[in-house]
Amino acid sequence: MRVAIIGAGFGGLCMAIRLEQAGIGSYTVFEKADGLGGTWRDNTYPGAGCDIPSQLYSYSFEKDSSWTRRYPGQPEILAYLDRCADKYGVRPKIRFGAEVVAADFDGRRWRVTTGEGSEEFDVVVSCVGQLTRPAYPPIPGRESFAGVAFHSARWNHDHDLTGRRVAVIGNGSSAAQFIPRIQPLAARLDVFQRTPNWVIPKPDATFGPAARLALRLVPGLRRAYREWIYRYAEGTLYPALARGWSAGLLRKRALGHLHAQVADPVLRAKLTPRFPVGCKRVVIDSAFYPALTRPNVEVVTDPIVRVTPEGVQTTEGVRAADTIIYATGFRTTEFLQPIAFTGLGGVSLADQWKDGAEAYLGIAVPNFPNLFLVYGPNTNLGHNSIVFMIECQVRHVMACLPYLERNGPMEVRPEAMAAWRRQLAAAMERMVWGGGCRSWYKTADGRVVNNWPGRAGLYRRLTALPPLDAYRITSSA
Ligand code: NAP
Repeated sequence: MRVAIIGAGFGGLCMAIRLEQAGIGSYTVFEKADGLGGTWRDNTYPGAGCDIPSQLYSYSFEKDSSWTRRYPGQPEILAYLDRCADKYGVRPKIRFGAEVVAADFDGRRWRVTTGEGSEEFDVVVSCVGQLTRPAYPPIPGRESFAGVAFHSARWNHDHDLTGRRVAVIGNGSSAAQFIPRIQPLAARLDVFQRTPNWVIPKPDATFGPAARLALRLVPGLRRAYREWIYRYAEGTLYPALARGWSAGLLRKRALGHLHAQVADPVLRAKLTPRFPVGCKRVVIDSAFYPALTRPNVEVVTDPIVRVTPEGVQTTEGVRAADTIIYATGFRTTEFLQPIAFTGLGGVSLADQWKDGAEAYLGIAVPNFPNLFLVYGPNTNLGHNSIVFMIECQVRHVMACLPYLERNGPMEVRPEAMAAWRRQLAAAMERMVWGGGCRSWYKTADGRVVNNWPGRAGLYRRLTALPPLDAYRITSSA
């Protein structure tokens, strides 16, 4: 059985490691870039890090005691992935610089095409992530800017920001992390905010040598710590997103944080969200608000009209800038694009998903036998670790492999997909993401296609069920 894995981030590496451990060595990981790590390779902006503690934001089979802090930065996370690739022997199977452009199912096998040609595989596992392709805003005049402009996920490290007039467009989790780092350098920093975010403090802490030693040596300590973070996320954060008992507490915590860090009532009013907490991703950061209060920073809420050669024009006039940083997020709802997937009967995945991406368990798509998705539609979380979800998906794929190897290509049944769609829609009703805000979780018409509306534990149970009832062997096999 030959398996093609697309992408060498957290998802692709996990899939490769599990195949390796199962003795299935006939796989190739296609990675378009020249290094592994996915989003943790791409996002090198100053201050980049994860706001889920690494003791949980890491593989369950590779608990690490060397993290230097509760919320380590991007270099440590990338180094962890590098270590995993070597320790589990998957690096030789990664083909770097190999961008998959198309994958076609011929009724029996997948033909995977890169710039170098095509190869046949029995199974394709797409691990391309959700936060992969930077989104540039459709602001007129962007190309006319005379200064230096770049996206937060494509940071220009050659461009020294010292003494610059910098315009930052966007104020999500990425902007909140790099603004405190660049504020001391810039002569002037305009932060263009379209919508204020709810922000809560990040309770970071360093792990000194003694703590790291204890985590390494005390039996069960790493596991217990990981379990504690997981239970807190499930028990306290999730109910806030399901409009449950902790929503008020989370709101209070965010407002308290704002009041504690921003004394100026005018600025505070600008920064106070008018939508329910959790509707869009809550920003977790303790340095963001203080940076916004510095004398060289202004939060600009006047709507942007256009970019000019000199800077950013709002409804109130032009704000001069020599650098523009687009912290405008990612093309999150365009799952798997721009790879052209063609399934049974020549159906194109882009056409099938024209009203929004969907997949059974976020993993399997009708008409696309032997194609599995890791971190697919409706599997993102606003409260817990994506790595946990990735492991659930990989476990599910591993359970399918012996079945399809024995019987031929397997496809999710349309009835299972329809039932899944109904369950998802019903569960979505109670979540806070639906109304009152714009977010990267939703399509333009408001359908939430990114997020999983349940607890992570429920997802684990659903994906662990023997999958066979939901699947059928394709007739053309
Ligand atoms: P994001 O949350 O999607 O934020 C994009 C920002 O750009 C928003 O402030 C948005 O404003 C603004 N924007 C977009 N188009 C605009 C336009 N045409 N005009 C003006 N403003 C515009 O992107 P992100 O900050 O890169 O974060 C994406 C996700 O990555 C996060 O939600 C999180 O899941 C993950 N992440 C996590 C961390 C962490 O762990 N700490 C760090 C970075 C990223 P509106 O709000 O008005 O749309």
